[in-house]
Amino acid sequence: MLDTARIRADFPILHQVVNGRPLVYLDNAATSQKPRAVIETLVDYYSRYNANVHRGVHTLGDRATEAYEGARAKVARFINAPGPETIIFVRNTTEGLNLVAYTWGRAHLRPGDEIVTTIMEHHSNLVPWQILAREKEAVLRFVGLTPTGELDMEDFARQLTPRTRIVAVTMASNVLGTITPVAEIVRQAHAVGAITVIDAAQAAPHLPIDVQALDCDFLAFSGHKMLGPTGIGVLYGRREHLERMPPFLGGGSMIRDVQLTTATWNDPPWKFEAGTPNIADAIGLGAAVDYLSALGMENVRAHEVALTAYALAALSQVEDLVIYGPPDPQRRTGVISFNLADIHAHDVGTILDQEGIAIRAGHHCCKPLMRHLGVAATARASFYIYNTREEVDRLVAALIRAKELFGSVVGR
Ligand code: PLP
Repeated sequence: MLDTARIRADFPILHQVVNGRPLVYLDNAATSQKPRAVIETLVDYYSRYNANVHRGVHTLGDRATEAYEGARAKVARFINAPGPETIIFVRNTTEGLNLVAYTWGRAHLRPGDEIVTTIMEHHSNLVPWQILAREKEAVLRFVGLTPTGELDMEDFARQLTPRTRIVAVTMASNVLGTITPVAEIVRQAHAVGAITVIDAAQAAPHLPIDVQALDCDFLAFSGHKMLGPTGIGVLYGRREHLERMPPFLGGGSMIRDVQLTTATWNDPPWKFEAGTPNIADAIGLGAAVDYLSALGMENVRAHEVALTAYALAALSQVEDLVIYGPPDPQRRTGVISFNLADIHAHDVGTILDQEGIAIRAGHHCCKPLMRHLGVAATARASFYIYNTREEVDRLVAALIRAKELFGSVVGR
């Protein structure tokens, strides 16, 4: 298990008072905080070896290239990718998913082909497929949920057809916390000849991931949700796809040769990294991966399961609190969406903020899922490696006070 006191000492931002109370940061599904090791890596890069990569004939350029490519190798090991050439640095999960839609999708889809996704996807794993489907006259099909908010695997089997070309599924829901059975999804998708695109934005920070064991074709995640900087994300792609896919953006670094009217492409992953990349933040992500790897992703997950179990039990004591998603902490991540009586989620968020507790409220970029749940918004508390039971207790106490406050306002 994790030593949260020791971990907290590594995160300068956590040690502050917000609105008169010690900060309780429970908005980790939106973005995580950064340990000193990551912050110092960025400072070190800009103070000692800032230079452009891949083109230099000078020492700083070599150092920057080595660190940038070293970060790629660390990320590859982190998700057990077969090699660094299967790791493309992008801005975030959103860009990774769009890259697949714009390259593989545009090259392969024909009118009438089908894309299977689910009703709980984040907009970034939905809108790119809508755009692609409209352009290619393809058909979108949606897998539903069970009453406890898990993916309905019987429905999944029904949605697959010989026309299915792409299955795009989240590995962990940012609203329900639901963990999906990715290996089984991939197996069934491959059986009908479809490729699989996995949105791991909420999974990579929290669960051990082995892309070879999952056997997925593509998998995307963001650095900023896993202790890394903003502006850097990862797209893993199976080597044979990356070799055959057309490039995403054209420009410097992604070419082998350029004539006035034609060009040929560099090898993957550079074929997909046009222009000067986000060097500093990629190296920063490498430091984040080091930090998580030193903790051990099994331990990260164990901490999250224990804290989520504690939180689910504690929150169930709050009167009129509706919690969404699977009740079993083993089957979900540490994302807990809820609504409190008929108080709007934004009001809940504002009241908690007055007590120094940061949560998120809104549709969480999952408008179709909100409609399915029959709500306009939810409040969402989400945990990470530095969160504690005492913080959960503060959340619960603040919710009870919010209920009393609104009860008295309504009663007046
Ligand atoms: N997918 C899921 C499940 C998410 O939770 C998020 C971010 O909240 C994204 C995709 C998009 O991530 P980003 O905004 O970093 O591209």
